[in-house]
Amino acid sequence: MDSPEVTFTLAYLVFAVCFVFTPNEFHSAGLTVQNLLSGWLGSEDAAFVSYHLRRTAATLLCHSLLPLGYYVGMCFAASDKRLHWPAQAPEAWRLFLLLAVLLPCAAGALVYHWARDRWARHPLARTLALYALPRSGWAAVAASVDTEFRRIDKFATGAPGARVIVTDTWVMKVATYRVHVARQQEAQLTVTESRQHELSPDSNLPVQLLTLRVASASPAVRPFDIRLNSAEYGELCEKLQAPVRRAAHVVIRQSLSDLFLETFASLVEGNQAYAVPSGQELEACIGCMQTRAGVKLVKSCQDAAAGECQQCYCRPMWCLTCMGKWFASRQDPQRPDTWLASRVPCPTCRARFCILDVCCIR
Ligand SMILES: [Zn+2]
Ligand SMILES: [Zn+2]
Ligand SMILES: [Zn+2]
Repeated sequence: MDSPEVTFTLAYLVFAVCFVFTPNEFHSAGLTVQNLLSGWLGSEDAAFVSYHLRRTAATLLCHSLLPLGYYVGMCFAASDKRLHWPAQAPEAWRLFLLLAVLLPCAAGALVYHWARDRWARHPLARTLALYALPRSGWAAVAASVDTEFRRIDKFATGAPGARVIVTDTWVMKVATYRVHVARQQEAQLTVTESRQHELSPDSNLPVQLLTLRVASASPAVRPFDIRLNSAEYGELCEKLQAPVRRAAHVVIRQSLSDLFLETFASLVEGNQAYAVPSGQELEACIGCMQTRAGVKLVKSCQDAAAGECQQCYCRPMWCLTCMGKWFASRQDPQRPDTWLASRVPCPTCRARFCILDVCCIR
């Protein structure tokens, strides 16, 4: 299966997927629609709305050309199929060519429709028109969006295909073919989902991804979802005028230590429990003074004489949360992947222990 056809097909497939979904490598190589057409698109900072009107149209057109590009490439890669002479090409290829030609035609027709009347029919312009005052067009709203986008205090985050931008008045999501806009005043944001990822690829830190639904009071504005890292949630809330609602089942953990404490607690729950000798009173946790001491360090990971852990003879003095915080405080913040496997000294007697040695008191 080493034929040039297969090689070309695989290479083109990889190229097409990367061109559409633009991983970081493609961004740094400048192989994105934005980069290739930057001269025509203008600058996002100078005119945000007009930039994205053009960008969405150009992206749609460029992507719609991909199947045709494949056909043309195949004319050379598989010259024995005589694809360059469609009348003699195999039936399936003729059908493919027809679709490959129709797709950019349809995209072109759509873009032509959008661009008439100075882009007034583009979905973004139509959304902005919903916010226009009577007698002033969508362009006035667009100008206000442009101005606010230029301010440096806007909130902006997210991958290139799903950027989230919040300005003083607007909540926006910039997607590949669309830009969603809602005015803050009428929008209600609800955290609908939180998903935990053990490690994020670029930072090695556990992250929690939140999905927020932006619903506008006006039924003409379609609701849309935005996604962000929970660490950015606080910053987002500061930029919003109205509080964010939260679906009942969603828990938001903002910091790494919150995430760690939860993991720590669930691991400790799985350890064997410790029964206090009868007559021993449990005192308040000396860390927080809020709850009773709830954990005892009992070397359980290995035999008494083996390994690096040591037996701690302290009476129970800490609650689970404070012990977790202590454990986290002794870790290297840059290497969260090592946290769970590490050993730290007992806060009182300095005997080293690991998570397996932390026992909840029964
Ligand atoms: Zn405590
Ligand atoms: Zn101790
Ligand atoms: Zn141990």
